[in-house]
Amino acid sequence: MRFTRTKAAIAAAGLTLSLAACGGDDGGEQVEVTEDVEFEAGTTMAEIAERGTMTIGTKFDQPGFGLLGLDDVPEGFDVEVAKIIAGAMGIAEEDIEWKETPSEVREQVIEDGDVDLVAATYTINEERAQRISFAGPYYVAGQQLMVAADNDTISGPEDLADNPDMKVCTVTGSTPSENIREYLANNNQLVLFDVYDKCANALGNGQVDVVTTDNVILLGFVSESEGEFKLVGEQFTEEPYGIGIEKGDTEFCEFINETLAENEDAYTEAWERTAGEVEGTETPELPEPAPCA
Ligand code: GLU
Repeated sequence: MRFTRTKAAIAAAGLTLSLAACGGDDGGEQVEVTEDVEFEAGTTMAEIAERGTMTIGTKFDQPGFGLLGLDDVPEGFDVEVAKIIAGAMGIAEEDIEWKETPSEVREQVIEDGDVDLVAATYTINEERAQRISFAGPYYVAGQQLMVAADNDTISGPEDLADNPDMKVCTVTGSTPSENIREYLANNNQLVLFDVYDKCANALGNGQVDVVTTDNVILLGFVSESEGEFKLVGEQFTEEPYGIGIEKGDTEFCEFINETLAENEDAYTEAWERTAGEVEGTETPELPEPAPCA
Protein backbone atom coordinates (compact mmCIF):
# COMPACT_ATOMS: atom_id res chain seq x y z
CA MET A 1 0.00 0.00 0.00
CA ARG A 2 1.34 3.46 -0.89
CA PHE A 3 -0.18 6.65 0.32
CA THR A 4 -1.31 9.93 -1.05
CA ARG A 5 1.03 11.34 -3.71
CA THR A 6 1.95 8.02 -5.31
CA LYS A 7 -1.61 6.82 -5.13
CA ALA A 8 -2.90 10.09 -6.55
CA ALA A 9 -0.40 10.00 -9.41
CA ILE A 10 -1.39 6.47 -10.40
CA ALA A 11 -5.08 7.31 -10.15
CA ALA A 12 -4.54 10.48 -12.16
CA ALA A 13 -3.36 8.57 -15.20
CA GLY A 14 -6.68 6.77 -15.44
CA LEU A 15 -8.88 9.69 -14.48
CA THR A 16 -7.82 12.45 -16.82
CA LEU A 17 -10.79 11.97 -19.11
CA SER A 18 -13.50 11.92 -16.48
CA LEU A 19 -12.00 14.97 -14.80
CA ALA A 20 -11.95 16.83 -18.07
CA ALA A 21 -15.59 15.88 -18.51
CA CYS A 22 -16.57 17.60 -15.29
CA GLY A 23 -14.44 20.62 -15.90
CA GLY A 24 -11.49 19.65 -13.75
CA ASP A 25 -13.41 20.66 -10.65
CA ASP A 26 -12.24 18.98 -7.45
CA GLY A 27 -15.75 18.92 -6.03
CA GLY A 28 -14.92 21.74 -3.58
CA GLU A 29 -17.21 24.75 -3.30
CA GLN A 30 -15.94 28.07 -4.55
CA VAL A 31 -15.03 30.20 -1.56
CA GLU A 32 -16.44 33.75 -1.58
CA VAL A 33 -14.16 36.39 -3.08
CA THR A 34 -14.80 39.99 -1.95
CA GLU A 35 -14.82 42.52 -4.78
CA ASP A 36 -13.53 46.09 -4.56
CA VAL A 37 -11.57 45.55 -1.37
CA GLU A 38 -9.96 48.58 0.26
CA PHE A 39 -7.19 48.50 2.83
CA GLU A 40 -5.06 51.08 4.51
CA ALA A 41 -1.96 51.79 2.44
CA GLY A 42 1.16 50.07 3.68
CA THR A 43 -0.62 47.07 5.20
CA THR A 44 0.03 43.51 4.06
CA MET A 45 -3.62 43.29 3.01
CA ALA A 46 -3.26 46.35 0.72
CA GLU A 47 -0.07 44.95 -0.75
CA ILE A 48 -1.66 41.55 -1.47
CA ALA A 49 -4.87 43.08 -2.88
CA GLU A 50 -2.81 45.30 -5.16
CA ARG A 51 -0.64 42.40 -6.30
CA GLY A 52 -3.72 40.27 -7.04
CA THR A 53 -1.97 36.97 -6.25
CA MET A 54 -0.85 35.08 -3.16
CA THR A 55 1.61 32.36 -2.30
CA ILE A 56 0.41 30.09 0.49
CA GLY A 57 2.34 27.38 2.29
CA THR A 58 0.50 24.17 3.14
CA LYS A 59 0.99 20.40 3.38
CA PHE A 60 0.70 18.17 0.30
CA ASP A 61 0.59 14.77 2.04
CA GLN A 62 -2.08 15.03 4.75
CA PRO A 63 -5.54 13.71 3.84
CA GLY A 64 -8.32 15.98 5.14
CA PHE A 65 -6.04 18.99 5.77
CA GLY A 66 -3.70 19.44 2.81
CA LEU A 67 -3.34 16.73 0.18
CA LEU A 68 -2.24 17.28 -3.38
CA GLY A 69 -5.18 16.47 -5.65
CA LEU A 70 -5.27 14.92 -9.09
CA ASP A 71 -5.13 18.38 -10.64
CA ASP A 72 -1.91 19.24 -8.75
CA VAL A 73 -3.78 21.57 -6.39
CA PRO A 74 -3.95 20.72 -2.67
CA GLU A 75 -7.29 19.99 -0.99
CA GLY A 76 -8.25 19.98 2.66
CA PHE A 77 -9.36 22.07 5.62
CA ASP A 78 -6.16 24.14 5.81
CA VAL A 79 -6.46 24.88 2.12
CA GLU A 80 -10.09 25.98 2.52
CA VAL A 81 -9.31 28.18 5.55
CA ALA A 82 -6.54 29.83 3.55
CA LYS A 83 -8.96 30.39 0.64
CA ILE A 84 -11.42 32.14 2.99
CA ILE A 85 -8.62 34.50 4.10
CA ALA A 86 -7.45 35.06 0.51
CA GLY A 87 -11.02 35.70 -0.67
CA ALA A 88 -11.43 38.49 1.89
CA MET A 89 -8.52 40.29 0.18
CA GLY A 90 -10.09 39.80 -3.26
CA ILE A 91 -7.85 36.86 -4.20
CA ALA A 92 -9.62 34.03 -6.01
CA GLU A 93 -8.36 30.48 -5.74
CA GLU A 94 -6.97 30.49 -9.29
CA ASP A 95 -4.70 33.35 -8.20
CA ILE A 96 -3.18 31.37 -5.33
CA GLU A 97 0.12 29.59 -5.74
CA TRP A 98 0.39 26.69 -3.28
CA LYS A 99 3.82 25.88 -1.90
CA GLU A 100 4.49 22.60 -0.13
CA THR A 101 5.76 23.40 3.38
CA PRO A 102 6.82 20.35 5.39
CA SER A 103 6.83 20.87 9.17
CA GLU A 104 10.51 21.70 9.48
CA VAL A 105 10.58 24.58 6.95
CA ARG A 106 7.48 26.53 8.02
CA GLU A 107 9.22 29.27 10.01
CA GLN A 108 11.95 29.55 7.38
CA VAL A 109 9.63 30.11 4.40
CA ILE A 110 7.82 32.83 6.36
CA GLU A 111 11.07 34.50 7.43
CA ASP A 112 12.39 34.36 3.87
CA GLY A 113 9.22 35.95 2.50
CA ASP A 114 8.61 32.96 0.20
CA VAL A 115 4.95 32.82 1.25
CA ASP A 116 2.31 35.29 2.42
CA LEU A 117 1.08 32.87 5.04
CA VAL A 118 1.31 29.25 6.17
CA ALA A 119 -1.80 27.15 6.89
CA ALA A 120 -0.36 23.72 7.60
CA THR A 121 -1.58 21.95 10.79
CA TYR A 122 0.74 24.44 12.44
CA THR A 123 0.72 24.34 16.25
CA ILE A 124 1.02 27.71 17.94
CA ASN A 125 3.84 27.60 20.47
CA GLU A 126 6.28 29.99 22.10
CA GLU A 127 9.39 28.69 20.40
CA ARG A 128 7.91 29.24 16.94
CA ALA A 129 6.46 32.59 18.02
CA GLN A 130 10.03 33.83 18.53
CA ARG A 131 10.46 33.75 14.75
CA ILE A 132 6.98 34.31 13.30
CA SER A 133 3.51 35.46 14.40
CA PHE A 134 0.36 33.37 14.53
CA ALA A 135 -3.24 34.31 13.83
CA GLY A 136 -5.88 32.01 15.30
CA PRO A 137 -6.17 29.37 16.64
CA TYR A 138 -8.72 28.14 14.10
CA TYR A 139 -8.72 24.51 15.31
CA VAL A 140 -7.40 22.51 18.28
CA ALA A 141 -6.02 19.02 17.63
CA GLY A 142 -4.14 16.64 19.97
CA GLN A 143 -1.32 14.14 19.59
CA GLN A 144 -2.18 10.45 19.43
CA LEU A 145 -0.73 7.13 18.20
CA MET A 146 -1.54 5.08 15.08
CA VAL A 147 -0.60 1.40 14.78
CA ALA A 148 -1.36 -1.55 12.50
CA ALA A 149 -4.85 -2.93 13.10
CA ASP A 150 -3.41 -6.21 14.44
CA ASN A 151 -1.06 -4.54 16.94
CA ASP A 152 -2.42 -5.37 20.41
CA THR A 153 0.82 -4.49 22.24
CA ILE A 154 0.66 -0.69 22.07
CA SER A 155 -2.45 0.87 23.52
CA GLY A 156 -1.04 4.28 24.43
CA PRO A 157 2.24 6.22 24.77
CA GLU A 158 2.96 4.57 28.17
CA ASP A 159 3.52 1.23 26.38
CA LEU A 160 6.33 2.53 24.16
CA ALA A 161 9.21 2.41 26.67
CA ASP A 162 8.31 -1.19 27.57
CA ASN A 163 8.67 -2.16 23.90
CA PRO A 164 11.99 -0.61 22.85
CA ASP A 165 12.15 -2.66 19.63
CA MET A 166 9.01 -1.00 18.35
CA LYS A 167 9.91 1.96 16.14
CA VAL A 168 7.94 5.18 16.39
CA CYS A 169 7.73 7.42 13.31
CA THR A 170 7.03 11.12 13.09
CA VAL A 171 8.25 14.21 11.26
CA THR A 172 11.29 16.44 11.79
CA GLY A 173 10.48 19.90 13.15
CA SER A 174 7.05 18.87 14.45
CA THR A 175 5.76 19.23 18.01
CA PRO A 176 5.00 15.46 18.16
CA SER A 177 8.68 14.71 17.54
CA GLU A 178 9.49 16.64 20.74
CA ASN A 179 6.51 15.54 22.85
CA ILE A 180 7.02 11.82 22.22
CA ARG A 181 10.60 11.67 23.51
CA GLU A 182 9.66 11.42 27.20
CA TYR A 183 7.69 8.22 26.44
CA LEU A 184 10.49 6.40 24.59
CA ALA A 185 13.04 3.92 25.94
CA ASN A 186 15.74 5.82 24.00
CA ASN A 187 16.20 7.98 20.91
CA ASN A 188 16.92 4.92 18.70
CA GLN A 189 13.24 4.14 18.94
CA LEU A 190 12.41 7.31 17.00
CA VAL A 191 12.31 7.39 13.19
CA LEU A 192 12.03 10.83 11.59
CA PHE A 193 10.98 11.68 8.03
CA ASP A 194 10.24 15.04 6.44
CA VAL A 195 6.55 14.31 5.71
CA TYR A 196 3.88 12.10 7.27
CA ASP A 197 2.97 10.01 4.24
CA LYS A 198 6.46 8.46 4.49
CA CYS A 199 5.64 7.39 8.08
CA ALA A 200 2.31 5.94 6.92
CA ASN A 201 4.06 4.01 4.14
CA ALA A 202 6.67 2.75 6.62
CA LEU A 203 3.89 1.54 8.93
CA GLY A 204 2.17 -0.15 5.97
CA ASN A 205 5.26 -2.12 5.05
CA GLY A 206 6.29 -2.93 8.63
CA GLN A 207 9.42 -0.77 8.83
CA VAL A 208 7.93 1.06 11.82
CA ASP A 209 5.33 0.02 14.39
CA VAL A 210 3.80 3.31 15.47
CA VAL A 211 3.14 6.68 13.82
CA THR A 212 2.52 9.65 16.06
CA THR A 213 1.21 13.10 15.27
CA ASP A 214 -2.08 15.01 15.63
CA ASN A 215 -5.21 12.87 15.88
CA VAL A 216 -6.90 14.47 12.86
CA ILE A 217 -3.89 13.84 10.61
CA LEU A 218 -3.77 10.21 11.74
CA LEU A 219 -7.52 9.78 11.17
CA GLY A 220 -6.96 10.79 7.53
CA PHE A 221 -4.39 8.00 7.14
CA VAL A 222 -6.59 5.49 8.96
CA SER A 223 -9.46 6.25 6.59
CA GLU A 224 -7.17 5.77 3.56
CA SER A 225 -5.72 2.53 4.93
CA GLU A 226 -8.77 0.35 4.23
CA GLY A 227 -8.74 -1.21 7.67
CA GLU A 228 -4.98 -1.69 8.01
CA PHE A 229 -4.38 1.03 10.63
CA LYS A 230 -6.10 2.14 13.84
CA LEU A 231 -5.70 4.87 16.44
CA VAL A 232 -4.93 3.82 20.02
CA GLY A 233 -5.05 5.57 23.39
CA GLU A 234 -6.26 9.05 24.17
CA GLN A 235 -4.84 12.28 22.80
CA PHE A 236 -2.05 13.38 25.14
CA THR A 237 -1.30 16.97 24.03
CA GLU A 238 -3.19 20.05 22.83
CA GLU A 239 -2.22 21.38 19.42
CA PRO A 240 -3.90 24.73 18.63
CA TYR A 241 -3.51 25.38 14.90
CA GLY A 242 -2.53 28.90 13.85
CA ILE A 243 -1.96 30.74 10.58
CA GLY A 244 1.74 31.56 10.37
CA ILE A 245 2.62 35.06 9.17
CA GLU A 246 5.59 37.41 9.28
CA LYS A 247 6.69 38.24 12.82
CA GLY A 248 5.04 41.32 14.26
CA ASP A 249 2.46 41.86 11.50
CA THR A 250 -0.31 42.59 14.00
CA GLU A 251 -2.65 44.20 11.45
CA PHE A 252 -2.55 41.14 9.22
CA CYS A 253 -3.05 38.87 12.25
CA GLU A 254 -6.11 40.88 13.35
CA PHE A 255 -7.48 40.91 9.81
CA ILE A 256 -7.19 37.09 9.63
CA ASN A 257 -8.93 36.66 12.99
CA GLU A 258 -11.74 39.04 12.00
CA THR A 259 -12.13 37.35 8.62
CA LEU A 260 -12.55 33.93 10.23
CA ALA A 261 -14.99 35.28 12.84
CA GLU A 262 -17.07 36.90 10.07
CA ASN A 263 -17.10 33.71 8.01
CA GLU A 264 -18.08 31.09 10.56
CA ASP A 265 -20.58 29.47 8.19
CA ALA A 266 -17.95 29.17 5.46
CA TYR A 267 -15.55 27.77 8.08
CA THR A 268 -18.06 25.08 9.11
CA GLU A 269 -18.88 24.20 5.50
CA ALA A 270 -15.15 24.04 4.72
CA TRP A 271 -14.70 21.54 7.54
CA GLU A 272 -17.66 19.43 6.47
CA ARG A 273 -16.45 18.99 2.90
CA THR A 274 -12.83 18.21 3.90
CA ALA A 275 -11.68 16.85 7.28
CA GLY A 276 -15.33 16.35 8.27
CA GLU A 277 -15.63 13.63 5.61
CA VAL A 278 -13.08 11.53 7.49
CA GLU A 279 -14.61 8.99 9.88
CA GLY A 280 -14.14 9.85 13.54
CA THR A 281 -13.81 13.65 13.17
CA GLU A 282 -16.20 16.13 14.77
CA THR A 283 -17.22 19.51 13.40
CA PRO A 284 -15.39 22.14 15.49
CA GLU A 285 -16.56 25.52 16.75
CA LEU A 286 -14.22 28.31 15.70
CA PRO A 287 -12.04 28.87 18.83
CA GLU A 288 -11.63 32.32 20.41
CA PRO A 289 -8.54 33.92 18.84
CA ALA A 290 -5.46 34.57 20.93
CA PRO A 291 -4.32 38.22 21.14
CA CYS A 292 -2.17 39.18 18.14
CA ALA A 293 1.47 39.85 18.97
N1 GLU B 1 0.62 20.27 14.75
C1 GLU B 1 1.90 19.69 14.90
C2 GLU B 1 3.03 20.65 14.51
O1 GLU B 1 2.80 21.73 14.12
C3 GLU B 1 2.03 18.39 14.13
C4 GLU B 1 1.56 18.44 12.71
C5 GLU B 1 2.61 18.92 11.74
O2 GLU B 1 3.79 18.51 11.86
O3 GLU B 1 2.23 19.67 10.86
O4 GLU B 1 4.17 20.34 14.63
